[in-house]
Amino acid sequence: MPVPAAAAMPSDPAHAPLTGLQGVGPRVAEKLAARGMATLQDLWLQLPRQYEDRTRLAPIRGLQAGVAAQVEGVVEAVERSFRYRPMLRVAIGDDSNATLVLRFFHFRAAQVAQFAPGVRVRCYGTPRLGQHGLEMVHPSYRIVGDDEAGALGDSLDPVYPAIEGIGPATLRKLIAQALDRLPEADALELLPRDWLDGALPGLREALLTMHRPPQGADVAALIAGTHPAQRRLALEELLAHHLSLRRQRIALQAHAAPVLEGAALAERLRASLPFALTGAQQRVFAQVRDDLGKPVPMLRLVQGDVGSGKTVVAALAAMLAVEDGRQAALMAPTELLAEQHLANLRAWLEPLGVNVAWLAGKVTGRARAAALAQVAEGQAQVVVGTHALMQEGVAFHDLALAIVDEQHRFGVHQRLALRDKGGEGGRVPHQLVMTATPIPRTLAMAAYADLDVSAIDELPPGRTPVQTVVLGAQRRPELIERIRAACAEGRQAYWVCTIIDESEEIVAQAAQSTFELLSKALPELRVGFVHGRMKAGDKQAAMRAFKAGELDLLVATTVIEVGVDVPNASLMIVENAERLGLAQLHQLRGRVGRGSAASSCVLLYQPPLSQMARQRLETMRETSDGFVIAEKDLELRGPGELLGTRQTGLAAFRVADLVRDADLLPLVHDIGERLQREAPDIADRLVERWIGGAARYASA
Ligand code: ADP
Ligand code: MG
Repeated sequence: MPVPAAAAMPSDPAHAPLTGLQGVGPRVAEKLAARGMATLQDLWLQLPRQYEDRTRLAPIRGLQAGVAAQVEGVVEAVERSFRYRPMLRVAIGDDSNATLVLRFFHFRAAQVAQFAPGVRVRCYGTPRLGQHGLEMVHPSYRIVGDDEAGALGDSLDPVYPAIEGIGPATLRKLIAQALDRLPEADALELLPRDWLDGALPGLREALLTMHRPPQGADVAALIAGTHPAQRRLALEELLAHHLSLRRQRIALQAHAAPVLEGAALAERLRASLPFALTGAQQRVFAQVRDDLGKPVPMLRLVQGDVGSGKTVVAALAAMLAVEDGRQAALMAPTELLAEQHLANLRAWLEPLGVNVAWLAGKVTGRARAAALAQVAEGQAQVVVGTHALMQEGVAFHDLALAIVDEQHRFGVHQRLALRDKGGEGGRVPHQLVMTATPIPRTLAMAAYADLDVSAIDELPPGRTPVQTVVLGAQRRPELIERIRAACAEGRQAYWVCTIIDESEEIVAQAAQSTFELLSKALPELRVGFVHGRMKAGDKQAAMRAFKAGELDLLVATTVIEVGVDVPNASLMIVENAERLGLAQLHQLRGRVGRGSAASSCVLLYQPPLSQMARQRLETMRETSDGFVIAEKDLELRGPGELLGTRQTGLAAFRVADLVRDADLLPLVHDIGERLQREAPDIADRLVERWIGGAARYASA
């Protein structure tokens, strides 16, 4: 099958510099370059983030909070105030006999003068619920003459992602100029036409449809992102990302890694454990062992629900490095969690004569110098720590295995930094990445084309499922009795305070008053308190006391979220649970149900519940399967939030949406395979076209 020969000559307009456009002087060029835009092609692919539908007018009465719309009305009242800061409120009304408030915080005197009562205003914005009904804050608007009343535009207005220092109107003009220089269809196309689904348009047509929706275009589809033009571009973008991740993997595998084969030490560890490994733990460890026995770097993600026992698998893997006379490092996202790993590993490994060193931010002065020396000279066989492990000045003697726990808390860059500690002669350590945030299959395929994935999909025996109840906050007093009863039986409980959108300071205050209230209501109990603004040492001390059973009740903010293991805790109460995402609720709930006692989790909410929050709490009540929860989370929130924007750059897709476009992924894989095999130069150019500078950075 011949592939189209798109021109890649220097005269290719795709690579023409933006400085050739009218209005692009050195200053504008610099602002564009800061966003990775240097060529015409970069502007072609600067796709609208959404559209404003100005083809219709919505009656004010029919407006819904959160749903953007265009309305037209007559000014009924204007109010200016300066109480806290300058503010302008303009009330407009229309034939639906309803009123909408437009609210401005920045405005000029001339603007105020425009809004005389009786003047007709057309505006576009997203209404939200204000003090007196719906309002639009800083809508785009224009005054229309009575002769224009109701006369509408006939196409959608694209809205582009903002670029700092370049106004939206200027940006639109620049993109329009770039589009005027779009080459003919055949010159632009990289993908062989008959490899694609016949229903999808060519690249040129797709770009023009997205940037300049023609009259009569399917407005609803464009707004929903399901128009064939958008699908065509999403396909190409997903393909570029897929190819780029595959390349990174191939590049990584070109490095050498130490072959770790001796399993006698791992076997001794296994035999010394107070429990038998689950089938899933054995299977995953076998996969890891297999990888470590090869001379290429392992890059494996181990997914396992909270409490599935990932740590011991990591410890077993570390023994292979130690037996070979090399080092293993285990990095955790919080000091609390790292300290817990340290305690576990010391308890398991020191009896076997393995030296475990500790390196966290709070290790300073002489202790730090001593730890660094041990790491550098190799006496430290296993090193446990936080981000401090990756800092400059930390040199390993011979790092053979880098283990990263709770991977979603770290960005790709941090993971790479630990990898780069392998050093000598281009050798790279094996990497084991562990996460309790299960990643739905579709997402994993797209996000981790560069990783092998294992799942510990079985919990250790004897755990009883956590019973979850959802209650309105007015039921709080009953819970105090419940805590009293649980603790009287020798159990422990968590009370988690959350306030999102507020500063840590305010959360800490709220938690403080809850702590005081509970201490007073439960005088017979030993109540502890941890929050994010405490000194690390105090936090640690409280956690340690709770773990040791010296406290009955722990009042905490979400700092206890990740990985903390106290098997005797069997009751958790989460306040304002409606404000938390599913993944976070699942993590929190995973703190109970780790022992053999029947456990419960009470999710308290402040009514009224939004539709979305209700669905989340329902999901929590119905299932404790991390994978089901992750799928639901993806559905409700989208991939960007699920993985964290730092993670993979997934949130930075220009047009693709992994949930909406999931059905394209099989085709993406097929075409990806085929390109790699039959036309690797085209694969290169696709990656360059869509990812460009970002790809160069990631493979560095
Ligand atoms: P996570 O996967 O959430 O990191 P951990 O590694 O912290 O889970 O393990 C949770 C608890 O289960 C720990 O106390 C650990 O010692 C224990 N554990 C791990 N594997 C088993 C097993 N096979 N049988 C019984 N308990 C286990
Ligand atoms: Mg863990």
